[in-house]
Amino acid sequence: MPVIRKNTKKIKVGNTFIGGDSPISVQTMVNADPHDFEAVSAQVKKVEAAGAEIVRMTVPDEESAAVFSVIKHDGVKIPLVADIHFDYKTAIAAAMCGADKIRINPGNIGEEWKVKEVATTCKILGLPIRIGVNSGSLDKRLLKKYGAPTSEALAESALLQAEMLEKYAFSDIVISIKSSDIKTMTEAARKVSSASDYPLHLGVTEAGDEYAGLIKSSVGIGALLLDGIGDTIRVSLTADPVKEVYAGREILNSLGLLKSGINIISCPTCGRTKIDIIKIASEFRKIANQIDTKGKRVNVAIMGCVVNGPGEAREADFGIAGGDGFAVLFKNGETVGRIEECDIIDALKKETLEYIGN
Ligand code: SF4
Repeated sequence: MPVIRKNTKKIKVGNTFIGGDSPISVQTMVNADPHDFEAVSAQVKKVEAAGAEIVRMTVPDEESAAVFSVIKHDGVKIPLVADIHFDYKTAIAAAMCGADKIRINPGNIGEEWKVKEVATTCKILGLPIRIGVNSGSLDKRLLKKYGAPTSEALAESALLQAEMLEKYAFSDIVISIKSSDIKTMTEAARKVSSASDYPLHLGVTEAGDEYAGLIKSSVGIGALLLDGIGDTIRVSLTADPVKEVYAGREILNSLGLLKSGINIISCPTCGRTKIDIIKIASEFRKIANQIDTKGKRVNVAIMGCVVNGPGEAREADFGIAGGDGFAVLFKNGETVGRIEECDIIDALKKETLEYIGN
């Protein structure tokens, strides 16, 4: 059964959209020094090449806001988001310098007139605002009211901030609620989803290193996506942002929400396995991450044995099943050739490129 997504408001962000019928996008955040424009631009290009569809960068002061005009002139095509804390003037500077979206944190931006200034600038420039509520920096009044950053407190904070923007005729809003506690994050997102039609950005914050963070994010983000909640995702990892992009795409892939890309079906290996399937799957994964499938979805199987492999990977477009020192190549369940073990990676790459028409 395919996931049925909630129909949220469609918001334009640069040359793409979040919400409505637009595909769920994968975001990341670069971590280069925000004053080193060359380094930021190089990192943005790297995550763009890895498949990021939106990228965010911190803008700690007005000087660093100029990074947007530099990157825009550097050939980057994906939308750029300014991550703003504390200073509304920096938000305005980022908007003026070419940011495609402004993320503000209601817990620390200050008085309402400051939020109004940001909203007015964004409205004039046609930019959306992401209200980013975070359990670590919840509005003090709500923290006092609820005693802790509960899901109720986080959801109320986001909805109050949306109401505040609406007061100034601003409704190009994306909402995110992040917590490192999966239960709090998912409960808060569900509350906001049932109370409003604004698109949701999902993520588990401070999720941990590559391994732990991926598991935490998959559980939290995956639980919501399965119920049709969520329009854009960011997997937060204590790792290279490129890894966040791969992780985000794999979460969408696992739920059938990725319409393009390479889906690798590989068996866990067992006593029947006579070739190094673990190495082949890992090497092919690296190659697959570099291939642009031009909007096509390719299902590639890497199976340990001919006895069960082709049958267990019925949904694959093509794949290999291991023998002793060799593998058979199969397409749509039919064996079509034999490949020596040392040639398997090259053969999978060749088949993939042929499949997508390269
Ligand atoms: Fe074992 Fe073959 Fe199944 Fe792989 S496909 S787990 S080698 S039985």
